Amino acid sequence: MTTKRHTSKIGVLTSGGDAPGMNAALRAVVRSALQRGARVFAIYEGYQGMVDGGDYIREMNWGSVGGILHQGGTIIGSARSADFRTREGRRKAVRNLVLNGIDRLIVIGGDGSLTGANIFRQEWKELLAELREAGEITVAQAKAHPNLILAGLTGSIDNDMIGTNMTIGTDTALHRITEAMDAITSTASSHQRAFVIEVMGRHCGYLALMSGLAAGANWVFIPESPPESENWEEEMCQALHAGRETGRRHSIVIVAEGARDRNGIPITSQYIKEVLEDRLAEDTRVTILGHVQRGGAPSAFDRILGTLMGNAAVEEVLTADPDSEPKLIGIRENNLIRSPLMQCVEQTRHIAELIEAKEYETVLTLRGGNFRDSLSIMRTLTRAQPRSPEPGQKRLRLLILHSGGPAPGMNTAARAAVRLGLDRGHTMLAAYNGFQGVLDGEIREMDWMSVSGWVSRGGAELGTSRKNPDGTELARLAEVFKQYEVQGVMIIGGSSGYETAYKLFTRSDDFPAFNIPIVCLPASINNDLPGSEHSVGSDTALNSIVLDVDKIKQSAVASRRCFVVEVMGRYCGYLALLSGLASGAERVYMHEEGVTLHDLQIDLNNLVHGFEQGKRLGLMIRGEYADPFYTTAFIVSLFEKEAGGLFDVRQAILGHVQQGGAPSPFDRIQATRLAAKGIDFLIREANKISPGGAFVGMQTGQVTFTSLGDLTRLVDPDFSRPRDQWWLRLQELAKILAEPNFEE
Ligand code: ADP
Repeated sequence: MTTKRHTSKIGVLTSGGDAPGMNAALRAVVRSALQRGARVFAIYEGYQGMVDGGDYIREMNWGSVGGILHQGGTIIGSARSADFRTREGRRKAVRNLVLNGIDRLIVIGGDGSLTGANIFRQEWKELLAELREAGEITVAQAKAHPNLILAGLTGSIDNDMIGTNMTIGTDTALHRITEAMDAITSTASSHQRAFVIEVMGRHCGYLALMSGLAAGANWVFIPESPPESENWEEEMCQALHAGRETGRRHSIVIVAEGARDRNGIPITSQYIKEVLEDRLAEDTRVTILGHVQRGGAPSAFDRILGTLMGNAAVEEVLTADPDSEPKLIGIRENNLIRSPLMQCVEQTRHIAELIEAKEYETVLTLRGGNFRDSLSIMRTLTRAQPRSPEPGQKRLRLLILHSGGPAPGMNTAARAAVRLGLDRGHTMLAAYNGFQGVLDGEIREMDWMSVSGWVSRGGAELGTSRKNPDGTELARLAEVFKQYEVQGVMIIGGSSGYETAYKLFTRSDDFPAFNIPIVCLPASINNDLPGSEHSVGSDTALNSIVLDVDKIKQSAVASRRCFVVEVMGRYCGYLALLSGLASGAERVYMHEEGVTLHDLQIDLNNLVHGFEQGKRLGLMIRGEYADPFYTTAFIVSLFEKEAGGLFDVRQAILGHVQQGGAPSPFDRIQATRLAAKGIDFLIREANKISPGGAFVGMQTGQVTFTSLGDLTRLVDPDFSRPRDQWWLRLQELAKILAEPNFEE
């Protein structure tokens, strides 16, 4: 981090459709700018505020963005401005910025807002000259601000921008849609109704597709991939009817607002309702989710995304060459990237044109492999019945089970594995209570409907245990495998599952029954497993922590209080650090960094200083195994005693709520995708003489397989966590944004 004092002044505005997470971006812009010695001005009400100037442009300090992380929308307002579309309006805007000494601008908005920003930047010099000639600004003012340096962030719930894998607000919108769909599914089941749910997305089916995967929709329409058949109504009806025949109590159809058929004719929710009523005599209701999708508290992911992007945008406007193309700040595979702004906007618009021109194949290619993969998984899962095996195809017997602590999303993964395995024509077995269940012979065959409703259910329907068989138990395990003719195993769980899998993999010479493909699917709230950047369950736990911390913070409004919140994670500080970033904690204690008395002394001094200056709330987050001596209770006592009545200190140990609850959309999507790839792996390897064993994961945006043989190399045995943890690099940012001594 640079400590150089800039004299620069940065303007920041939010424009166009609002999106949850914009506040996190604003907070990061303000605090990173102040940290770097720049001054920062919020421009209220989008471009209109820039045109109108005066009180719409206000200098921000550290405290002005305190306590806003959890708020949806944008505290500085957003608007659509007709004035800014005119040259005259932009001329006024240049004048207002120059009068405030601002020549660096961060725009948080959609493609419209970013286009406007680019035009503004291109005209800057010309308008500056005009203003100077007209005497509206002085020669010195014009000279001092010869260029506008611009950076753009995409705030949009549609996830429709080229140049970033995720836009600010999308994940939260998925939360809202999935919550609504879970609720609708339960009422639909009660009355055996059909529901047509319309979600946003004029040119982008991301929300429809991903929420369809996450909530187990039975049919989905998206703009990028119209139904193949001219007679799609019949196909849809047949599939939904078949679902009913197998005992499904609801039919859920999701339609993106921009969905269309092959001829480009819109497929509306109303039309689908009529089709279902006429052809299937289904009692059908339409729900248009509308602006609910934009609302509510931002998800943990959107808070972190906004934070990372806001920080990067400040870096960009303070260091960019004034003559270089302005950049869009995006994220790809957990890394921030900078791309030429206008190229991204143009390509984004080009996709919309391609959809209009019915160039669907090209559009799907541009959306990327993950989108296409998800679409193909979605299509399989919406089938009511498994396909019959191909003639002559070998029907494998594949076993799935859980291992380790419960993680939300385990059921989602089990459901996908069972259905995709059946779809490929294989026999799916499941063991109850992890390896203990295998030892006890608690294994049963699964059918398509045996996993119905599991997509959204927290906990683990199959049960889970930390049993890690050893000694003679391995022989018993081999015997059970032989008895059930198991030809492949998928273990959905945490480190105990990985360790057992490693044992089976390395002992196949002793026990031929273990000479079968084995795949581990990472499911643990701790995110402490190798070979994947995220384990299933960790996003849900993170969101659960963040929501609880929001409440804890609110409870402290009336008092001067510091909370020490203890979160799970064992020796892995992932939940502690990321929840700290997403909830605005001023200090995170985690095992990777260690805790010393010296640190505690500094933190205490900072707290005392802050409360003396009028601060009302302190928030520290401590990972459960951060330090064996400096426990949560110890820290609370130490602070309480030393605070001498200036503030009081309370502990909150969040405990097992972190392992419960319905899985988040991200966990459901990840569980489904990894299960699909894991089943493919088992099928592929089963044909080999020496079948492989691997753990599946998502790394740098791709599904990857890492050999089980690498387990000991990748994992630190003392602390049961990966030796290399990508998220540790966020530590510095957490520190920058939590700079104490200011009122939160
Ligand atoms: P979004 O940014 O969400 O795509 P809009 O397309 O409505 O939303 O754009 C928001 C605002 O950005 C507009 O009201 C206008 O002030 C400004 N803007 C959009 N396009 C242009 C343009 N071509 N020229 C100048 N300003 C524009």
